[in-house]
Amino acid sequence: MAGPVHRVVWFRRDLRTRDHPALAAAVAGAGGDPVLPLFVLVPEPWQRLGGPARAYVAASLRALRDDLGGLHVRTGDAAAALVGLAAAVGPLEVHVTEAHTPRGRARDARVAEALAASGSRLVVSGANYAVPPGEVRKPDGTPYRVFTPFHRAWLDHGWERPVPRPAAIPVWAPEGDPLPPVERLPGTTVPEAGEAAALERWAAFAAGPLADYGELRDRPDLAATSRLSIPLRWGELHPRTLLAALDPQRDRRFVAELGWREFYADVLFHEPHSLECNLDPAFDRMVHDEGPAADALLAAWAEGRTGYPFVDAGMRQLRAEGWMHNRVRMVVASFLVKDLHLPWWRGEREFMRWLIDGDPASNAHGWQWVAGSGTDAAPYFRVFNPVLQGLKFDPDGAYVRRYVPELNHLAGAAAHEPWKVLDGYAHGYPEPVVDHAEERAEALRRYAAIKEG
Ligand SMILES: Cc1cc2nc3c(=O)[nH]c(=O)nc-3n(C[C@H](O)[C@H](O)[C@H](O)COP(=O)(O)OP(=O)(O)OC[C@H]3O[C@@H](n4cnc5c(N)ncnc54)[C@H](O)[C@@H]3O)c2cc1C
Repeated sequence: MAGPVHRVVWFRRDLRTRDHPALAAAVAGAGGDPVLPLFVLVPEPWQRLGGPARAYVAASLRALRDDLGGLHVRTGDAAAALVGLAAAVGPLEVHVTEAHTPRGRARDARVAEALAASGSRLVVSGANYAVPPGEVRKPDGTPYRVFTPFHRAWLDHGWERPVPRPAAIPVWAPEGDPLPPVERLPGTTVPEAGEAAALERWAAFAAGPLADYGELRDRPDLAATSRLSIPLRWGELHPRTLLAALDPQRDRRFVAELGWREFYADVLFHEPHSLECNLDPAFDRMVHDEGPAADALLAAWAEGRTGYPFVDAGMRQLRAEGWMHNRVRMVVASFLVKDLHLPWWRGEREFMRWLIDGDPASNAHGWQWVAGSGTDAAPYFRVFNPVLQGLKFDPDGAYVRRYVPELNHLAGAAAHEPWKVLDGYAHGYPEPVVDHAEERAEALRRYAAIKEG
């Protein structure tokens, strides 16, 4: 490379300064010279993010800029933006965290080529996972398709210690494009973004709910889970930072959940088509409902007016907070696939529109797990009963009342069964759009047909 080389740290889904190997490598390589922190706003994927995620990331970028003392922003195609930057300031050494999603890998391959052609280079360090996808394999070298053996091998493989934040991060951030605006959506609250807020949330969880996590994690009415999926999705925290503070025995349930995140990323790495297609091709024969009636049911589900209180509370939480409790994600997903007979990918897309933690691997595989077409598939005859699930995991009805004001007048568990009380429908709550028992039987008929075929 001719001339002085500028070290660039191109932030993507790693919006932090601690435990950031690419940032540490750029700062070390710069030997005291400033590094250029960069964010490239690529319009198409930015628009593909839902409104809550855009608002959250825009706020997180501000927190990163304020923490670093500058952030250069370029708008446009990633390769063109980086080649443009090199043309403006001279040859670049662009440091990134390795991407593992199908789109991220394709983009980085293009960028590496374009940079090399213009006398610059892409340098990859670290991953968004404790163990980079693709590294945990069976003794014969093939990837795992079942969680439990993957998890065992992942624990045995282990991970590096967190990388400290560089003692000083000298920054050079020439004027660029503006940061995207933080557009608040009416009716949706977005949690505080940024590394400092994420570390605070983690400290509060570790000091409190973590102790009872194994017992209470399925209770959406309680604040029993970490809500760290959002900072993990945007890399405001590295999972290694969490794992370094956890005890593999005492905290095994929480460690296992972090393991699910890594497992799904690993499966997607090996099976990129599973983002949009059934992992189990037998499910390609599944008959789904289509047409205006199916579309109307999809809308009722998405807007939280199916007449099943636990399902509706979940879908309304999704819109109100850009997040939903895991137990409820499973129940609403099962309802879409098995009660409404719609393909999982229609629900997966609706989730992506609203979830701030919307992650290609965890979302597609969470949906495929429920649909039965993915890894560790739940047995096809397991159909969640949306009423019994509510009674079991929201025993006092508090979760339903929090999100469904039309049922606010019903005390205790009655909120789950408005049809059982005289004034159940007094405040405009809709009656069930389908009969669960009938649709369950129909779902089992359709599954039996594909299993025989
Ligand atoms: C249909 C469906 C779709 C989902 N879509 C997503 C998604 O887009 N993004 C996402 O991060 N998670 C997704 N999940 C997994 C899970 O629901 C969320 O990770 C969890 O609810 C986040 O809340 P939390 O941070 O409080 O989790 P905690 O219970 O505190 O768990 C800690 C962390 O472990 C990871 N984790 C926990 N459960 C799972 C799981 N089942 N699969 C993968 N990782 C897990 C998350 O990173 C989470 O932050 C989905 C699950 C289902 C059933």
